[in-house]
Amino acid sequence: MSGGEGGRPATWLAQALGWVEPRFGEVVPPVHLSTTYERAEDLSYPKGRVYGRDQNPTYDQAEALLTRLEGGQAALLFASGMAAATACFLALRPGDHVVAPKVMYWALRNWLEQEARAWGLRVDFFRNDSIEDLARLVRPGETRLVWIETPANPTWLVTDIARAAEIAHAAGARLAVDSTVATPILTRPIEHGADLVMHAATKYLNGHSDVLAGALVTARMDEYWQRVRAVRASLGGVLGPFEAWLLLRGMRTLHLRVHAACRNAERIALALQDHPKVVAVHYPGLGNDPGHAVAARQMQGGFGGMLSVRVAGGQDGAVRFAAALRLFKRATSLGGVESLVEHRASVEGTGSPAPPDMLRLSVGAEDADDLIEDLIQALGRI
Ligand SMILES: *Cc1c(COP(=O)(O)O)cnc(C)c1O
Repeated sequence: MSGGEGGRPATWLAQALGWVEPRFGEVVPPVHLSTTYERAEDLSYPKGRVYGRDQNPTYDQAEALLTRLEGGQAALLFASGMAAATACFLALRPGDHVVAPKVMYWALRNWLEQEARAWGLRVDFFRNDSIEDLARLVRPGETRLVWIETPANPTWLVTDIARAAEIAHAAGARLAVDSTVATPILTRPIEHGADLVMHAATKYLNGHSDVLAGALVTARMDEYWQRVRAVRASLGGVLGPFEAWLLLRGMRTLHLRVHAACRNAERIALALQDHPKVVAVHYPGLGNDPGHAVAARQMQGGFGGMLSVRVAGGQDGAVRFAAALRLFKRATSLGGVESLVEHRASVEGTGSPAPPDMLRLSVGAEDADDLIEDLIQALGRI
């Protein structure tokens, strides 16, 4: 069953689809290191592979697992989340129009604003809290790609995937979803109408803060997907075989880690929301969060492990709070089993949507009581 159809995500993940290597019966796959493949006497390639830049067999199992998890038709691994995301835009043509959110992963937003425009894409940014703004900016017949991120870094605004897909498709555009924070455990964007799903696999998919990787999953093997594939092969932003192997190893526990992070994040959000030193908690799992109703429709089993907290005392208060934390490590990134805290306003600089009194928390798999005690003692030191 696990190698074919049927079964459920936890089973697919724990067994990595149940593949067994035919030669020695290995339950854990080998790392394939060869960068080149032998031709037959007639110069054909009987095994179908030519060169290692984008044909390394170590990718196959992780790509098949991601395809299954997202309910798509194919997946591609990349050297990083940024390599995966930029491939979606570089597969378009100069002059094409794209729409992306104002609040989104900061490095990709900067790339769209600077490099993608210089390369010839026309880019507009919509307000995350207004699907009408997206509808207004999309240009029928001209917009080729609508990009959304939900929940969106660093304030966890939620976008309605089904509505965004309707708007994109009515204009003749594709919808791509950066689903890094939701993970395929909580949201399957293709079921809601998305055409492409992107993951910074560096984060939850790998889950141990020790691999940089990206992934794309497509709903359809069409001509655009062939161009995305060609971008990966020609730009060469490919994952090394060791990293691909580690990624698959990490993914085997994705469901356990994501559910643990959701449970902990929810408990933290509830514990902090009424604290006198807390100005606001941004977490789509809270009933009073502006994104809660949509999140409850398109996220199943939890609201993710990411939340942001605004504290008393402005930027100074936020910096003092972070300095007083003992368990939460002050570090960028997210989605690992260890909890991290970051002051996004100072990382992102001018133009950042992150208010100066806000800290982003990536909640890990520790004991929730330990994490809450750490946060409460640090709030007392503001
Ligand atoms: C980290 C991240 C990216 C970029 O991924 P890298 O692997 O760091 O290149 C893109 N989107 C989101 C939401 C991320 O958190």
